[in-house]
Amino acid sequence: MKISVIGTGYVGLVVGTCFAETGNDVLCVDIDAAKVKMLRKGRTPIYELGLEELLKKNIAEKRLSFTTDLEGAIRKSEVIFLALPTPPREDGSADLSHVLDVAGVISGSLNGYKVVVNKSTVPVGTADKVREVIARKAKHEFDVVSNPEFLKEGAAVNDFMRPDRIVVGSVSPRAIAIMQDLYAPFVRTGNPVIVMDERSSELTKYAANSFLATKISFMNEIANLCELVGADVDLVRKGVGTDPRIGQQFLFAGAGYGGSCFPKDVSALARTADEFKYEFKILSAVEWVNKHQRMVFAKKILTHFLNNLKGKRIAVWGLSFKPNTDDMREAPSVAVIRELVRHGAVIHAHDPVAIEESKKYLGSTVKYFKNNYDALKGADCLVVMTEWNEFRRPDFSKMKSLMRGRAIFDGRNIYNPQILGDMGFSYFGIGRRSRDGRS
Ligand code: NAD
Repeated sequence: MKISVIGTGYVGLVVGTCFAETGNDVLCVDIDAAKVKMLRKGRTPIYELGLEELLKKNIAEKRLSFTTDLEGAIRKSEVIFLALPTPPREDGSADLSHVLDVAGVISGSLNGYKVVVNKSTVPVGTADKVREVIARKAKHEFDVVSNPEFLKEGAAVNDFMRPDRIVVGSVSPRAIAIMQDLYAPFVRTGNPVIVMDERSSELTKYAANSFLATKISFMNEIANLCELVGADVDLVRKGVGTDPRIGQQFLFAGAGYGGSCFPKDVSALARTADEFKYEFKILSAVEWVNKHQRMVFAKKILTHFLNNLKGKRIAVWGLSFKPNTDDMREAPSVAVIRELVRHGAVIHAHDPVAIEESKKYLGSTVKYFKNNYDALKGADCLVVMTEWNEFRRPDFSKMKSLMRGRAIFDGRNIYNPQILGDMGFSYFGIGRRSRDGRS
């Protein structure tokens, strides 16, 4: 099938590459000429496991190409995927301008029947808006389909190639048949293609992300309570997660969720509720807890140093909002580091892949190190912000010899407090009892 994917970011690039991998003829479009130039050479502008190999292979096999020519791509395609940004506006609602602008171009470029598939996360009613815009100048039939994307950054290729489910929002039998055909290679093991109306499909994506964010905020509240009552959130997590009605995932307490999706999707869903005069009380609590949790963590560090970080050197391991990605959007590390810097700390940070991205958010307020141990030299404490695998079993004796202080603030609960305490470190996790290495 001839496909175009408009927007080659974290979603569009994976979608385009994976559709090419299953034999389709894919043309990816981006407004950013520098990105297109880089992609044509087989280089990915983002870090995503396994993506670059697949990209190179499909370019070489001539199933995947890149362009800035939107009209041309529309004319050449039977199916047009929109993987465009839908960032939050000031009031938290989703900004649809990218999606509607491209819909306007599609309107004037239709040269036959096409299916326009929305992969961006968009509020309920967007398919109607897109249809309305395209219909303005359209001289041919078309269908608009809602097809929300559930891939996770860091495991995006695998998620797209082996989805738990595909949601297709459409009432057009013609468009549904095309979508089922396109996705057939991805669901050979029997995972469902769930067909529903557009509005339910649009809401499904927000409901999924908001529910996962709720799980995280709920566990962060449990963690804060654990500290007050003398319980250990990691044990509570195991105790509740083994109940299949609850499940093991998204129960890890930490310094809060981040990324390009959860924060913006929770607030966009809250705005949708506002628009329909529905008071969605849980969502405001989820948002509040998440913002607060970053400061709960920063406050632990401040309290340890008696609210005076002047002259303190703090090593930070991990900057990206989660492991296996360079995405820094809404990363908790940014809020925590800014708070520490505001109190006079000097930050020496390391991240395996997100240093370049971090510079856009933290600039020269931070000194960056390519090696995690180098960042530790002379540090008064270590702060772990992202649970990258390489931080899980470090050489603690080496760390001790490099550091000036002995405190470890574990924002992702990856270390064993007992072991660190026995080694003479002071350990501070989230929702667990602290260990004082001196005792
Ligand atoms: P992104 O910012 O990484 O990528 C968007 C791309 O679109 C950029 O390369 C940008 O240059 C390009 N673009 C912007 N305007 C354009 C235009 N007019 N024509 C052509 N290209 C244009 O965004 P993303 O993270 O890939 O997210 C895209 C959508 O998918 C969002 O709605 C997001 O909520 C949703 N989503 C994201 C994820 C994720 O993990 N990132 C997962 C599921 C869904």
